[in-house]
Amino acid sequence: SNQQRMATTTSRFHTTTGSDVFSKIIRGEIPSTKRYEDDFCIAFDDLSPAAPVHVLIIPKLHTRGISNLFGSGAEDEVESALPLVTEPINDAEVVGKLFAAAARVAEAIGIDKTGYRLVINNGGDAGQTVFHLHLHLLGGRELT
Ligand code: IMP
Repeated sequence: SNQQRMATTTSRFHTTTGSDVFSKIIRGEIPSTKRYEDDFCIAFDDLSPAAPVHVLIIPKLHTRGISNLFGSGAEDEVESALPLVTEPINDAEVVGKLFAAAARVAEAIGIDKTGYRLVINNGGDAGQTVFHLHLHLLGGRELT
């Protein structure tokens, strides 16, 4: 049930041996231009920016995307017994913390007054290419 899902903790999230490119960035195995980091998440520049500001905010835990959190409840593949995020956290907090971090990054970069767009692609039709939950922060020009 939804009640049960909200009570879920990090025990079902894993990242340390994740094979996706963002898990590798979290582990420092491939370089990134970091904009922000805390215990829960990191933010770094997108490799192929679609706007003057294009930052990706990702949790330091592995979940494939939004539908794995709030949708079918499908378990993410267990990839390690050692999550990097050790504090208990529920699905709503995972998403909320990403948006909070995005707002901080936008303010730090100085686009909070001019405006910005936050996007999450989920699944094939949305064009999701990296299956590690991430929030796009886009700005620095008028977006159409
Ligand atoms: P998606 O379509 O929401 O899955 O977007 C994935 C994004 O990740 C794309 O905008 C890519 O340009 C970006 N990306 C892929 N690999 C890297 C990388 O190694 N560093 C930074 N960004 C990446």
